[in-house]
Amino acid sequence: MRLPEFIYHEPENLQEATNLISEFNGRYGIIAGGTDLMVKMKQRLQNSQYLISLDRIPALKTIKEKADNIIIGSMNTLDDIVNSEIIKEKLPCLKQAAWEVGSPLLRSVATIGGNICLNTRCRFYNQSYFWRSSRETCCKAGGHVCHVTNQEDACYSTFVADTVPALIAYDASIKLVGVDKTRKLSLADFYTGDGRMPNQILKGSNEILTEIEIPIPKDDIRSVYHKFRVRESIDFPLVGVAVMMKGIEEKHCQDARVVFTGVGSAPVEAKLAREKIIGQQLTPDLILEVATMAVSELHPVKTDLMSPNYKRGIAQVLVEKALRDVGGVNNGKDD
Ligand SMILES: Cc1cc2nc3c(=O)[nH]c(=O)nc-3n(C[C@H](O)[C@H](O)[C@H](O)COP(=O)(O)OP(=O)(O)OC[C@H]3O[C@@H](n4cnc5c(N)ncnc54)[C@H](O)[C@@H]3O)c2cc1C
Ligand code: SF4
Repeated sequence: MRLPEFIYHEPENLQEATNLISEFNGRYGIIAGGTDLMVKMKQRLQNSQYLISLDRIPALKTIKEKADNIIIGSMNTLDDIVNSEIIKEKLPCLKQAAWEVGSPLLRSVATIGGNICLNTRCRFYNQSYFWRSSRETCCKAGGHVCHVTNQEDACYSTFVADTVPALIAYDASIKLVGVDKTRKLSLADFYTGDGRMPNQILKGSNEILTEIEIPIPKDDIRSVYHKFRVRESIDFPLVGVAVMMKGIEEKHCQDARVVFTGVGSAPVEAKLAREKIIGQQLTPDLILEVATMAVSELHPVKTDLMSPNYKRGIAQVLVEKALRDVGGVNNGKDD
């Protein structure tokens, strides 16, 4: 498959980049590592006349502590995340999730910003033009029908980025920079839940994601990321879950987050499960109850190889395992 023609720009600072965005309004694509974008362009799912690369903007490549936060520039590769001493020590769940993305080659160029802005996926959409043209165009690709649900004008393609559940569990926020405005918002609020335009940038906000800010977790926080995929060596998650718990050493949990990828058009936080766990002591019975509750909050549709029921079963196993890991609770069986 060949790439369509495009004109490539490499701005050397943010001002230049936002000026280009304004000049090419609607006709540009932002390219970070290009591991997802290049595939989409070859499949004719994105045809941008201009590509604006962020690779030569040094300000987007820092990882540092600032006051009580860790700041991660959006152009850090996933390898940079995995190898950063600050992240290894303070954000182990993020390190784990970044390490789970794709393969070593992919992680050496794929960026954390690209992972956060990753488009949703579907077995009827992420295909070549030739494959797709054998049936009616679905509504994510510009038509009116959905081949998964047979509904009109609604898309349930699935959010599958690995690092985002970990970032949301750590309460991350992001900085978005436009031509004449800069704003900060909670990462969870970045996602729209609409499979066609799953985040604010893809919806056309004309902004660049510049950095991620994460409050430095206190010493009594434990977290873990677990992922299930078909091919261990290289694959998107069918289900992924980040679990964070605070104060577990004090016996009674003070706070908890259970956040999924692979089960909806946006990352899904199991809020009832969170309420259930706060103030409780983690026991095998409670783990089972919380995992069952978390899964009852999921409504996956069949956008990949697995049925929704299979995904729910996997999610149950992953949450139980994650809760046992953070709580140091043994179920008496081998996994
Ligand atoms: C074989 C294969 C396996 C993969 N496996 C996984 C996996 O297991 N888990 C997973 O999560 N992903 C996976 N991916 C998807 C992808 O490689 C990663 O999500 C990667 O982190 C994307 O980052 P990138 O820098 O390459 O993004 P790009 O491809 O450059 O960009 C992705 C999207 O984000 C936008 N974008 C990027 N950076 C910014 C920014 N700073 N501001 C605004 N918009 C921006 C782009 O315009 C584009 O729409 C896989 C891809 C392939 C090809
Ligand atoms: S969920 Fe439906 S509309 Fe969305 S990409 Fe898949 S087939 Fe297309």
